[in-house]
Amino acid sequence: MIRRLEAGTSLLIATHNKAKHTEFITLLAPFGITCHSAKDFSLSAPDETGLDFAANAQIKALAAARASGLLALADDSGLTVAAMSGAPGIRSSRFATEAGGYRQAMEAIVLRTRNEPRAAFQAAICLATPTGETATYIGICTGTIASSLRGMYGFGYDPIFIPVGSSKTFAEMSEVEKGAISHRARAFRQFAVAHLASAPY
Ligand code: IMP
Repeated sequence: MIRRLEAGTSLLIATHNKAKHTEFITLLAPFGITCHSAKDFSLSAPDETGLDFAANAQIKALAAARASGLLALADDSGLTVAAMSGAPGIRSSRFATEAGGYRQAMEAIVLRTRNEPRAAFQAAICLATPTGETATYIGICTGTIASSLRGMYGFGYDPIFIPVGSSKTFAEMSEVEKGAISHRARAFRQFAVAHLASAPY
């Protein structure tokens, strides 16, 4: 079992996505953890060969922990769309690349969800030690796909995702609004309760 991380503990945030890195720094800020980035260690991104979000988060966290000798935190996340049988899912990033960019990918998803707009963002967060221990937490934010792209904040598929209970897309929300309900924040809260001292939630 992985111990609690006291204030001052060094933790490598194992993501190459700048927006995700910023989200994690914001979430960890109250706990006094010393955060390092994948760039500080010139880490290369491992192949994401897992079959689900949890498996890919574990691959990334373990590779980073072993290469750096530090505790490492990684996430894997994506958008699952009911009308597309759960796609793009773990292939969310590749789906956008193959479509020619996020705008095109989102326009394609909007077209395919006119009659069945249900969707969910999912995130798995994995904490790994250099000796190969892991602890993984899952967060889900359910919602619907908007009828058009809306908003200018956030990243990725934020302009088409309306979380349950809101009329705004993620891209129309401030960082604080999205951070209160997002899939990553939900997974992070479980991680915080299990591994961070005096969780402020
Ligand atoms: P990963 O870096 O392999 O986990 O890829 C996750 C991909 O899912 C990102 O590149 C985005 O396309 C999408 N994604 C995950 N979380 C979010 C989010 O909070 N907002 C928008 N898109 C997201």
